[in-house]
Amino acid sequence: MSEIAVKNPMTGEVLYVVPEADDAVIRHTFEAARRAFARISAMTVRERVAETLKIRDYILAHREAIIDKIVAETGKCRTDALTSEIFVILDVIDYYRKNAEKILAVQRVSTPFVLFGKKSRICFEPLGTVLVISPWNYPLHLALVPCITAFVAGNAVVFKPSEYTPLRGLVEEILEGSGFLRHGIQVVYGGKDVGAKLIDAKPAKILFTGSVRSGRKVMELASRHLIPVELELGGKDPMVVFEDVNLERTVNGALWGALTNCGQACTSVERIYVQEGLYDQFVVKLREKIEKVTYPGHGGELPDAGSLDVGCITPAFQLDVIRAHLDEARQNGAKILTGGVPMNGSHVVPPTMVVDVDPSLKLAAEETFGPVVTVMKFKTEEEAVKLANDSEYGLSASVWSGDLERGWRVARQIEAGNVNVNNVMITEGNSALPFGGVKNSGFGRYKGPFGLHAFSNIKSVMVDKQGSRIESNWFPYTKEKYQAFSKLIELLYGGGPLGFLKALVWGLRLELLTRRQRL
Ligand code: NAD
Repeated sequence: MSEIAVKNPMTGEVLYVVPEADDAVIRHTFEAARRAFARISAMTVRERVAETLKIRDYILAHREAIIDKIVAETGKCRTDALTSEIFVILDVIDYYRKNAEKILAVQRVSTPFVLFGKKSRICFEPLGTVLVISPWNYPLHLALVPCITAFVAGNAVVFKPSEYTPLRGLVEEILEGSGFLRHGIQVVYGGKDVGAKLIDAKPAKILFTGSVRSGRKVMELASRHLIPVELELGGKDPMVVFEDVNLERTVNGALWGALTNCGQACTSVERIYVQEGLYDQFVVKLREKIEKVTYPGHGGELPDAGSLDVGCITPAFQLDVIRAHLDEARQNGAKILTGGVPMNGSHVVPPTMVVDVDPSLKLAAEETFGPVVTVMKFKTEEEAVKLANDSEYGLSASVWSGDLERGWRVARQIEAGNVNVNNVMITEGNSALPFGGVKNSGFGRYKGPFGLHAFSNIKSVMVDKQGSRIESNWFPYTKEKYQAFSKLIELLYGGGPLGFLKALVWGLRLELLTRRQRL
C-alpha cells in the first residue's frame, strides 16, 4: 500500500502520512454506501436537510480549529479560509434549509389538449452512490458543498480529496462529531490511481473538480461504464474595464479578484483588459496597491490572526507553472512591473503584475493559478468582447462600467458560465446561483436549484385513467383516422387565430372515430 506525505507549504514540515486506499477499502466503502443509500433515499428532503444542519452546527462551533487545519495544509491566509471555505459551506446549507424541499418537490406541468384527461408530473429522485473528486485549492469547500448537495438530493456520497490537501480525518470528524447519518458521506484517500479505481466501482454519477487534463481522463474512464460526469475545470478569467468606472473601486476589485487565495482560484482574475483612455492610470494605481498587499515576510502579522492578505502557493509543482509562464513572458518582451517567483524554494510568491503580454504567450492563454495578473489595453466594446472570449476557457468573467446597460450587454456576450458586473467572483457568493463553465472550463452546474437537480434522476410521469377507451394514435390505424389526424395537426400548428377552435372540432371527430373502434 502506498502512502502520501502531506506537507505544510509554508514551513515544508511533513504534517502526517496517510495511506492510500486499497481495493478492499474501496469495495467496503461502496458496499457501505449502497446500504446507506437505502436509508437516505427513503428519507424525506426535510429529514436530509436536518442531517446537514448538524454539520452546520458543528462547523460553526469548531470553526477556528477547522481553519487551523486548512491553513496548515494549504498555506492560505486565515481570512480566505473563513470566507471562502467556512462561510460558503454554511451558506449553502442554509440555502438548502430554506429551498431544498421546494426545489425537489414533484412539479406539475401542463398537459396539452391532444393529451386531454392526463396528468403530467416531474419527479426528482436520487441516483444512488455519487462520487465527488476534488482539488487542493479549496479543500473543505470543494469537499462539503458538492457532497452535501448530492446528499440532500438523496444520494450516498463517496468523496476523494486531493492528495496534496487530504485534511486527513477532518471531514470524518465533522460528520461523526456532528452525529451525521453514518456512511452518508465517506472519505477515501489517495491520488489519481485511487480516483480511477473509484470510477471503476461504478458510482451513479461523478462530480469532478480539477484540471482540464485530469477532467478529460476522468470522462474517458467514466465513459467505459457510461457514468454521467460533471466537470468543473480551470479558468483564465477576464476582467473588462471601461473608461467610465470609479477607478478606486475597480482597482480594489481587481486586486482582490487576482490575489484572493493567492490567485489559486478557478475564477481568479488573470487577464485584465482596460479601455485605452484609462489604461495608464489603472496600471499606476494597481501597481501602487499591489505593492501594499501583505504576504508572509511582507507585512501582516505571523502567525496570521486574520490580518494577512495573501498566503502562499500550496503544491510545489504550481510554483514551476507560475515561473515558466513568467519566464516565457519576460523572454518575449513582457514587463514584470512588480513581483516574480523567488528561486529559494519558498512557496511565498509576491503579488505579481505584468504588462505588454502577447496574447499567444502562456501567461495570456493558459491558467497560471498564482498571484499573477496581466493588464492589457483595448479600444472598443467590440474589441473587449473579442479579447475576453479569445480563450479556451469559459468559467467566469467580470465587466466594469458606469453604464449598467453596457455592463449587461457585454455580460451577455461573454462566453462563460458566470459573469459579474461591477464586481468579481460574487456569483459564487450566492448559493441560489448555479456554478459551472463552458468551453474547456467544463460542463454541468452544481449549486442552486440546478445543483440539486444535477444529482437527481429527473423523472417524467404521466398518469391516465383506467377504462376501456383506447388512444387515437393506437392501433388499428385507418384512412379516416389518418385524415382526421392530418387535419388536426394542420389546424393546431398552422390554423391561424381560430385554428385552435377548429382543431377542437377535429379532435372530437378523431375521438368519435376511435371510440367506434375495437381491435
Ligand atoms: P487535478 O486535476 O490534478 O486533480 C484534481 C483531483 O482529481 C485530485 O483529487 C486528483 O487526485 C484527481 N485525479 C487526477 N487525475 C485523476 C484520474 N485520472 N482519475 C481520477 N481522479 C483523478 O487538479 P488540481 O491540481 O488538484 O486542482 C487545480 C485545478 O482545479 C485548476 O485547474 C483549477 O482551476 C481547477 N478548479 C476548478 C474549479 C471549478 O469549480 N471549476 C474549482 C477549483 C479548482
